[in-house]
Amino acid sequence: MASKIPRIEAREQDPRQRAMNFDEVSFGFTEAEARAEAGRCLQCKNRPCVAACPVHIQIPEFILAVRDGRVGEAGEIISRDSLLPSVCGRVCPQEVQCEGSCVLGIKGRSVNIGKLERFVGDSELAEKPLERSRVVPNSHKVAIVGSGPAGLTCAADLARMGYGVTIFEALHRAGGVLVYGIPEFRLPKTAVVEREIAKLRALGVHIETDVVVGRTITIDRLQQEYDAVFVGSGAGLPNFMGIAGENLNGVLSANEFLTRVNLMGAYKKDSDTPIYVGSKTVVVGGGNVAMDAVRVAKRLGSEATIMYRRGEEELPARKEEVHHAREEGVEFRMLANPVEILGDERGWVRGVRCVRMELGEADASGRRSPVVVEGSEFEVECDCVVMALGTSPNPLIARTTSGLVVGRRGTLVVSDDGATSRPGVFAGGDAVSGAATVILAMGAGRTAARAIDKYIRGV
Ligand code: FAD
Ligand code: SF4
Ligand code: SF4
Repeated sequence: MASKIPRIEAREQDPRQRAMNFDEVSFGFTEAEARAEAGRCLQCKNRPCVAACPVHIQIPEFILAVRDGRVGEAGEIISRDSLLPSVCGRVCPQEVQCEGSCVLGIKGRSVNIGKLERFVGDSELAEKPLERSRVVPNSHKVAIVGSGPAGLTCAADLARMGYGVTIFEALHRAGGVLVYGIPEFRLPKTAVVEREIAKLRALGVHIETDVVVGRTITIDRLQQEYDAVFVGSGAGLPNFMGIAGENLNGVLSANEFLTRVNLMGAYKKDSDTPIYVGSKTVVVGGGNVAMDAVRVAKRLGSEATIMYRRGEEELPARKEEVHHAREEGVEFRMLANPVEILGDERGWVRGVRCVRMELGEADASGRRSPVVVEGSEFEVECDCVVMALGTSPNPLIARTTSGLVVGRRGTLVVSDDGATSRPGVFAGGDAVSGAATVILAMGAGRTAARAIDKYIRGV
């Protein structure tokens, strides 16, 4: 019976080798592996996996198509609900979404939905180069601010509906966090992200890079030229702890560290982007950003440690990334929190003074809060500290645009369909939710595209 067959895992680079290079960790499925894994799916009538996917991809249907060797059709099925299968198949937190609800998961053998989606997305057979010819253009134009997953999805959906779409991106390369945050060894930029963006250009979407909306051009001005505006500007402003020593040389935000490496290619031998790498790096935080930063530090030759104030169970990063980091030799210091970053006489980091933590009572969300253990101070020696403590939306757009209601953490306030308080301006993704996930940003871009269409058509 299908459920008795063990789950097929994709082959991976050897941990000792990959800890020294930036090549992708997982090789993904071969066609034979994909078809065999697809054959394990029970094609459940109640479809719990579909309900648990934020964009409700028709999972049993696409898996059946893979099983029967109809990869192009599988691509068609996924593309009804998701623009970026090669991306989501790689970075979605599947264990708490689709795979987390798979009936085979009860015995720890959930169908490997993520790797199947990646296989379909990566397959040339799933390409649809002629899509533009199916679009019936209308005379309306929409401006999109930001080229992350929210902006890209909103742009693609509107372009398919016939709108003339222009994306304005502050950086010199499109893709948002997919290009500046998530490292090459998890998400290859040229092979995956640029290929997905090329599909968007093929749909007729125009992308203008190096345009900072709020500086180079205002929302007021965009609204004079376009029928509607979507703001998908993300949450790229790093948070710090506000402790002594954060201004020392050798203290970086994960955002800057990862941007230098990923977007500016600082890890390449011929790169002229400067990057500081210590011999001992402490990364403070426990989310995906922290895991990416610590694994990058390791690859750049540093001893690398995660410091997190809660326990292993509470680590918010994807399980697969934590597992990979451990395999690569990253050290984990759980239940510890910095209280001061220590400097030497030249103003460089020489260590971190920390306290031990224990988990107290659960709060309203059910999460146990970390509490300082009295008299537990200790020091950790290091020459680089990377802060990965979450991010907030950059306030630039809200400050330069009247009539936008902003929430407590700088997020834009929108109604269920993504409409902001300013008529004709919609928003979604991390700019609205605060730092979240790729698939949620894509879902928000899609919701807003539908609302923008209704707004322009006046229905
Ligand atoms: P972004 O991807 O942030 O894109 C916003 C874009 O807007 C950027 O390109 C920015 O330059 C541009 N912009 C900002 N302001 C302006 C302006 N004024 N004018 C013009 N352009 C502007 N999620 C997962 O699901 N799985 C993961 O494994 C995962 N790992 C992550 C690792 C890292 C290091 C980071 C930082 C995030 C990770 N996330 C992960 C979260 C995920 O990437 C984000 O939730 C998602 O990218 C949000 O999409 P977005 O489109 O809202 O914003
Ligand atoms: Fe699973 Fe993400 Fe794909 Fe949905 S988009 S099926 S959650 S991998
Ligand atoms: Fe297949 Fe699992 Fe979804 Fe059932 S829950 S249809 S076995 S992927």
